[in-house]
Amino acid sequence: MKVLLVEDEKKISDFVVKGLKEQGFVVELASDGDSGYYHATTWSYDAVVLDIMLPGKDGLSILKALRKAGNTVPVILVTARGELDERLEGLNLGADDYLTKPFYLDELVARLQALHRRSTGAQLSLLQLDDLVLNLTTREVKRGEEAVELTTREFNLLEYLIRSPGRVLTRTQILEHVWGYDFDPSTNVVDVCIQRIRKKVDAGQERPIIETVRGVGYRARKL
Ligand code: CA
Repeated sequence: MKVLLVEDEKKISDFVVKGLKEQGFVVELASDGDSGYYHATTWSYDAVVLDIMLPGKDGLSILKALRKAGNTVPVILVTARGELDERLEGLNLGADDYLTKPFYLDELVARLQALHRRSTGAQLSLLQLDDLVLNLTTREVKRGEEAVELTTREFNLLEYLIRSPGRVLTRTQILEHVWGYDFDPSTNVVDVCIQRIRKKVDAGQERPIIETVRGVGYRARKL
């Protein structure tokens, strides 16, 4: 799950970025309103965590502009204590949820996961393709009866592929989604990561999950 955090207080953003990354999220940070708006309208995210009081464009203006432009990315507003009017205005403007500072990281994670389930329509936190099952809550992976140990990055890449079986994802799309925008496009990290996943998930299997589309990228096999 790829998240944009728009937050100007370094102490908070350091803590949230680190915490979310540890939990397997891909996080990008914008530390003022203008770059927050730029990110939100330029790249695609599964959710935006949006502070209200920001230098440059404030959070409510960003939200308003996004919704006016038809952008439906799920937004969690972050308000300071006492900003009740702003919170209500935010919900009216189309925020999906809000958190009051100070908040616990676990609470943010739970809200993000709930938003993600709502927006992807997933009722369960299990994602399955053939006999491969990913548990998105516990992050356990099984191929048939065998448990598979994946790193956070490997898990995120595999999840991205099997969310849309048959769809070819280019290396650039995978890099953007799994590594974030801050990557060197000439790098071969995607291929290296795919190789490692294949060793763990597909080695010795009659029906491999991951297919290479030569010159383009990768896809999960369509059943
Ligand atoms: Ca702020």
